Amino acid sequence: MHRKIRGLPASPGIVVGRVHLLRWEVPDVRHRIIPDEEVPAEVERFRQAVERAKERLRHVRDRVEAATSHEEAAIFDVQISVLDDQILRGSVEELIGQNLAAEKAFDLVMLEWRQRFARHANAMMRERVGDLTDVHIRVLSLLLELPDHDPVDVPKGADAILVTHDLTPGLTVQLDRETIVGIATDAGTRTSHVAILARSLGLPAVVGLRIATEELQGGERIILDGGTGVLIIEPSDEDIAEYRGRARREAELEHELRQYSALESITPDGVSITLRANVDLPEEAELAATSGADGVGLMRTEFLVVGRANMPDEDEQYRAYKRVLDAFGGKPVVIRTYDIGGDKLPVGGFPTEANPFLGWRAIRMCLDQPDLFRTQLRALLRTAVHGDLRIMLPLIVTLDEVRAARAIMAEAAAELVARGVPHRSDVPLGIMVETPAAALACDLLAGDVAFFSIGTNDLVQYTLAVDRGNANLAARFTPLHPAVLRLIQRTVEVGETASLEVCVCGEMASQPLMAFALLGLGVRQMSVSPRAIALLKRVIRSVPLATATEAVQAAMGLATAAEVERELSQRLHAAVGDTSWLGGE
Ligand code: PEP
Ligand code: MG
Repeated sequence: MHRKIRGLPASPGIVVGRVHLLRWEVPDVRHRIIPDEEVPAEVERFRQAVERAKERLRHVRDRVEAATSHEEAAIFDVQISVLDDQILRGSVEELIGQNLAAEKAFDLVMLEWRQRFARHANAMMRERVGDLTDVHIRVLSLLLELPDHDPVDVPKGADAILVTHDLTPGLTVQLDRETIVGIATDAGTRTSHVAILARSLGLPAVVGLRIATEELQGGERIILDGGTGVLIIEPSDEDIAEYRGRARREAELEHELRQYSALESITPDGVSITLRANVDLPEEAELAATSGADGVGLMRTEFLVVGRANMPDEDEQYRAYKRVLDAFGGKPVVIRTYDIGGDKLPVGGFPTEANPFLGWRAIRMCLDQPDLFRTQLRALLRTAVHGDLRIMLPLIVTLDEVRAARAIMAEAAAELVARGVPHRSDVPLGIMVETPAAALACDLLAGDVAFFSIGTNDLVQYTLAVDRGNANLAARFTPLHPAVLRLIQRTVEVGETASLEVCVCGEMASQPLMAFALLGLGVRQMSVSPRAIALLKRVIRSVPLATATEAVQAAMGLATAAEVERELSQRLHAAVGDTSWLGGE
């Protein structure tokens, strides 16, 4: 008899595979004293563990390099260099010399180093905490003779389903997609960045399972259904046949939906809605361009950085942005400046701030590190000569930030003039409206920006005070809460008065019921993951705008998200008739 664990659907697709359990956590280390005569042997044991860890890292590096790129593999060179650090090794050996067992000595030194790096003023240095943590886990596992769990070194052809407590975006991009066929995590929600990335990579995922790592030992056969958020443990042959049937039906539905991607995105009462794609990785661009999207509404540039040892330089960024622009051949492409921080960076399961989502992230970090910001802006201004590029600033809360960013953009342009490099200095500069401050005060921002893009993932998080990545709060993450709807409505109205384009680029837009709500709120532009474009076109072509507007008018008088959802859902279903394709609500 099979067992089922329910989580949250994060990235669709049904796969059958074997559990690859990843316990990538720093193990507990007992305080252990050794007698004087054992000291030399203990030092030797430590040195051997370091050599074995380095050997393993070189092997993992080569595998990652073969599967991805030199840049992504470079992170392992950084980890090797940590193990070669004479000061670090000297400190450990000194403690062993004072009769501490090798594992305890290494544990103490690594804790101290991680803390020191976590407090570093420089973001890239703080990100090294993730590498230190990885090294910490690797060497301790060897010294304590613990089973070898490796996040990136899974045997080929294993059809592995990675089950772990939480994953960082850095680790997610490094996964070997030929061996890992699905991801299941205890933590996370639909809007956490691991879920967003899994969708971009087309990797089926279930998050928010809470107990998966407790319930599973590793090696079990499971079915992972990313569309409904379920794991079936030790399925029978009938279960597998049933799920294979489901997977076939999903594929048929997708095939049926695909015909919509080539159609116009226009409501039955003749209102055109602009649909754009969210692109998280440059490699996605070509596929995204075939989705039927009218350009890119959000490119998340921070994913160029995660899992990397160094920030990409100007030329590398230029190539990445140009690839996206070229793929969309002249259509608008909105590229967002780094939104580093929150749950994206740093890595290693080791938060370096008490409240990362309220912390030094996104535009705050870029303004405080003008060199890093100018490099990105130069790359963007150079790319802009090749098409309709627009720049977007994340996490704006005040007009000062927009003005400061514009000043740095002018400096970046001046640098390119001095170098004689072709560029455009008049690139439209817009903002994400993703904080209650920006939404409430968007009239004060409108005069200084070229467009608004509402980021509902963060707007919901900050408005409702619900951490977007916390599985325990997933049911409280309600984009249809009246407070959120009012903020969206206000932003749309202010945008209209100021003749600014207003897009919605959060996850909310990709779910039919929510998209129906957005249409009724006056939103005429949405940006969603490429896979959601066809579904959204079908919604738009099925629902008269007047119906959506009336539905929202009725819903705005209601007091709770649940009441709003009921009201909208009834009206949407009444308007659409056959609702079998709507799914996902
Ligand atoms: C958002 O916050 O809604 C958004 C689109 O940006 P991100 O998910 O990258 O924070
Ligand atoms: Mg955001």
